[in-house]
Amino acid sequence: MSNNKTKLAIIIPCFNEELVIKSTVETLLSVLDGIIAKGKISEDSYIYLIDDGSKDRTWEIIEELHNMFGNKVRGVKFVRNYGNQKALIAGLLGVKELGCDCVISIDADLQQDENAIEKFVDEFHNGAEIVSGIRNDRKTDSFFKKYTALCFYKLMNILGVKIPPNHSDFRLVSYKGLEILEKYSEAGLFLRGFFHEIGLKTAYVYFDVKPRMAGHSKFNFLSLTSLALNGITAYSIVPLRIVVAMGLLTVIGSCLFAAEVVFEKYFLNDMPSGWATLVILLAFFGGLQIFCLGIIGEYIGQIFSEVKARPRYIKEKDI
Ligand code: UDP
Ligand code: MG
Repeated sequence: MSNNKTKLAIIIPCFNEELVIKSTVETLLSVLDGIIAKGKISEDSYIYLIDDGSKDRTWEIIEELHNMFGNKVRGVKFVRNYGNQKALIAGLLGVKELGCDCVISIDADLQQDENAIEKFVDEFHNGAEIVSGIRNDRKTDSFFKKYTALCFYKLMNILGVKIPPNHSDFRLVSYKGLEILEKYSEAGLFLRGFFHEIGLKTAYVYFDVKPRMAGHSKFNFLSLTSLALNGITAYSIVPLRIVVAMGLLTVIGSCLFAAEVVFEKYFLNDMPSGWATLVILLAFFGGLQIFCLGIIGEYIGQIFSEVKARPRYIKEKDI
């Protein structure tokens, strides 16, 4: 494919982003113009916004931008909020339908450095099918988010999903990647795991994270926990194996303990009152069992939502 024919789509998930979306689109259009002027992408490259059930004026602004810039700015509106992963999936599949050679996803608050987009395109021209944006640091994240994210990536690595730390959803995907994505019908698809797993040629681009220009983060403790749990249970069954191993160790330990108790009772005849030991053991194993049931429950939850095979999202309008 010759470089100047590359049709690039930029997708932006938006949830209550009325404060930033206009300036973000204008900035990205000028970034696109710059890359078009260098002959690296085609003139019909465009932006595709996914309104993830915003309650503010986000969709009205998207419509205004569409009226102003025509097919350079297109979009889809969900009937309700489905979360950032589903908005991204809708964006990826949406631009596949509209047509593109590659697509880049970026946040509406433009915290990711838009100047890295050209580097993504260069890597694509060098043959990469996926280009992943890696944050240089997490200076803009809160202490809590920084360390929980670090723990999450460490845990995922231990569990066998080798996602590079400081990975983000700022990434380029080729048309081939989109064709593969379309074949995966699972509802709880975790994109960072998915694009890593499919094994297409991947390049990495490092970028600086800026503070959010306006508004506030749309993620809270609960939504981040749910994203992390979904990521783990969708891509690793190691926790279930750990539960099995813990169960086995507990059984072996209890057998040894029982043997010792029997030995003391019948041969030494000096059975201590042992109340403390009993209570501690009871509490410990009670906790362990509930914890293990919880892990199993998470997987059953995954099966439950996959088995129903409901649509991932419902669209209200598109332009
Ligand atoms: N977002 C979304 N749906 C949600 C939550 C977030 O589409 O339910 C979008 C949001 O509008 C933004 C991107 O996902 O474009 C990242 O969200 P945010 O900037 O709030 O997250 P943070 O930078 O704090 O991780
Ligand atoms: Mg942000």
